Amino acid sequence: MIPDNILRTGPYPMLIDGQEVASQSGRTFDTFNPSLNQKLASAYEADEADVDRAVKAAQRAYDTVWSKTSARERAKLLRKLATSFAQRMEQVSWLETLNVGRPITFTRQSMAVLPDTIDYFASVAMGLGGQTLNVADTSVMNYTIREPFGVVGMILPWNYPLTLMLSKLAPALAAGNTVVVKPSEITPLSSVELGRAILEAGFPEGVVNIVNGPGRTVGNALVAHPMVERISFTGGTVTGKSIFRAAADRIKRLTLELGGKSPLIVFADADIDRAVKLAASDIMLNTGQICVACTRLLLDESIADEFTAKLRAACAKLKVGLPELEDTHMGPLVSPAQLKRVQGYLEGAQAAGATLDVVQDLSARPELAKGAFVAPTLVLDANNSMQIAQEEVFGPVQTVIRFKTEEDAVRIANDSRYGLAGVVYTRDSARALRMARGLKIGNISINTGMKASSDAPFGGLKESGLGKERGMDAILENTELKNVKISLR
Ligand code: NDP
Repeated sequence: MIPDNILRTGPYPMLIDGQEVASQSGRTFDTFNPSLNQKLASAYEADEADVDRAVKAAQRAYDTVWSKTSARERAKLLRKLATSFAQRMEQVSWLETLNVGRPITFTRQSMAVLPDTIDYFASVAMGLGGQTLNVADTSVMNYTIREPFGVVGMILPWNYPLTLMLSKLAPALAAGNTVVVKPSEITPLSSVELGRAILEAGFPEGVVNIVNGPGRTVGNALVAHPMVERISFTGGTVTGKSIFRAAADRIKRLTLELGGKSPLIVFADADIDRAVKLAASDIMLNTGQICVACTRLLLDESIADEFTAKLRAACAKLKVGLPELEDTHMGPLVSPAQLKRVQGYLEGAQAAGATLDVVQDLSARPELAKGAFVAPTLVLDANNSMQIAQEEVFGPVQTVIRFKTEEDAVRIANDSRYGLAGVVYTRDSARALRMARGLKIGNISINTGMKASSDAPFGGLKESGLGKERGMDAILENTELKNVKISLR
């Protein structure tokens, strides 16, 4: 059960210049528990003046301390952060479970890998450097150097607040930048506790700043601020496009991690049971609110009936319930608004001629009545041009589409404005290699699930994004490359 003292008593503060502070206006906003549709806590709401304060603190910290800090010292501080974060892991797990609605068992799993994420970036920071080049002009020595940007702004969504925050924060700090973070207004709490872990780790004042509040004011102000040199954004494609436009004015550097409509392609020669397990887990995990979830199930028509029956049986066994219970597999959606959005997509699919297979009946579960719960749902008799197959639903919904040939599968998979992730199940290794080439997708998995890891690059193609996070590429994207030529005469 939920331990005592998980929540702070007053409004959750912001972190500016090494201090936990209130907003200048004193305004607060409420944040909710989606399984009860009940207020959980409040947080101070930043405005443009607070963003300005935070950015100036980050610039000061960069100029006076952080830009003079060696990679070795930055790595040491990051390792201390990994330790102080690990000490708070149980508390932040509960905060995210209460605020996002993700079952506690899965939240703990998602948190448990984060100290290693921090540690990875601490290690690779030490190897960061330029190159000496053998240019044609022998009268010069030519070399490159990599330098941090200065202040990096980060804007985050609500689905995995700390996972996404740390996968941006750790490489930016490791590369020598200072940061201002804007978490989602829906899930502000866990980032405040991460802020406390940052203070405990001993980071200099102003190196990390966290401002909570709405995207239309706080996010906008961060993108527009002249001292913010680079923006790293994760969120919806529509918001990503507006940030892209706003950043164009000053040619700000950008990483955009946006939406997806990822295919899970299963050929007749595949290990069907393993593929079924993955299809069910993509429905269940975080109640389907994962950008890389495979939500278009492309099945070879010869195995489609068998596969769908097995998937249905697997979904029937999923325990939908209150997220604080250790044996719950699937909690509520993040908010009533998200529930309305998912229901809207399902109604639209039905109106377009698809059949909805709602796998569980939640109406007889009084304990779920107040929350944003929705049953795992298969959308059958669908085709790829339907809205349900083209747009990101962000709910526990799998749309089943049949294909006849490999070419057919590639064509359907690529017939999407997104290109974030995709999974292929086949025992034919030549086909697996052909699929990896043919799919216009940034993150491809063959015979295994799509799980981003800290030590490999991650990023979408097409309207799924721009640039890479994670892996060495994340560090490189947090630096500018300069070329230097010195006369030898
Ligand atoms: P949104 O795009 O609505 O919001 C993301 C963040 O942007 C929030 O912090 C939001 O603020 C802020 N924001 C909104 N408008 C602006 C603006 N004009 N200027 C600056 N910032 C703004 O996405 P959601 O939070 O709804 O997250 C879900 C989406 O995120 C899904 O579409 C999903 O695909 C995508 N996502 C992508 C991932 C990836 O790695 N590719 C990973 C996870 C999610 P506010 O607090 O007001 O909402």
